[in-house]
Amino acid sequence: MFSETILTKSDFIYPLFIVEGDNVKNEISSMPGQFQMSIDSVLRECEELLKLGITSILLFGIPNEKNEVGSGAYDDNGIIQKALRAIKGAFPELLVITDVCLCEYTSHGHCGVIADGHVKNDETLELLQKEALSHAQCGADIIAPSDMMDGRIAAIRQTLDQNGFADTPIMAYSAKYSSAFYGPFREAAESAPQFGDRKGYQMDIRNTDEAMREIALDIAEGADIVMVKPALSYLDVIRRASESFNLPLAAYNVSGEYSMVKAAAERGWLDGEKVMIEVLTSIKRAGADVIITYFAKDIARIL
Ligand SMILES: [Zn+2]
Repeated sequence: MFSETILTKSDFIYPLFIVEGDNVKNEISSMPGQFQMSIDSVLRECEELLKLGITSILLFGIPNEKNEVGSGAYDDNGIIQKALRAIKGAFPELLVITDVCLCEYTSHGHCGVIADGHVKNDETLELLQKEALSHAQCGADIIAPSDMMDGRIAAIRQTLDQNGFADTPIMAYSAKYSSAFYGPFREAAESAPQFGDRKGYQMDIRNTDEAMREIALDIAEGADIVMVKPALSYLDVIRRASESFNLPLAAYNVSGEYSMVKAAAERGWLDGEKVMIEVLTSIKRAGADVIITYFAKDIARIL
């Protein structure tokens, strides 16, 4: 009766990694219980998610071929485009969010176009606009740009509005830190940078004022939902954002946060289930309205 924080199934968004092929379901070795799946396998997964009461998913695409400009990201027959048509066709009631970035599609693994060894911000924006529009046209319910280029929210908002998708919300990865907790995800999404790092466009882990400025900018540019990523080492940022902005706040409980709990539980060093509940409760207690988490199925089974 007096619990201040209560987890419910509708708090959670489940990330899915989609690959080309038939009947593919390959476990990601650094993320036990998580898989790269082909579209047919993803459809079976969606059925299971709905049975468990998880109704929101976040899609990441892993194309067969990558190139310098990440053209698979905005190809009408790209992996996400095909997946969107299949998933929304079979399960219109599922809320489908798509990751909009180029790093899964570029041969160099960076989130944008490269020239002279650097990511070019403005050239990248054009490609992100194409990618976001293509996702909306294929049925995406929410567009989630994760690239951290300057001006991307305004650019994507403008493209969506001009093409009849004024009602498609944008969930902005606003405060995305340059974190070592992303390690397992890069195996899952095959998106590790081939040179350098992402510190030029992701945030310094030592800063919170900067996070507030990034969030304010994204809101000014038209974001409908803002995000703090990662979650567990950034509960202070989540708390500060939830008190500073009157907009839905998402937190991404990232791959490394998931994997370390699973690894410790496998060794019997931690009670994995209790730690999962504690972690997810802390993220919500800090102020997150929704939590993107690989634990979504595990927690749904308990709730
Ligand atoms: Zn990226």
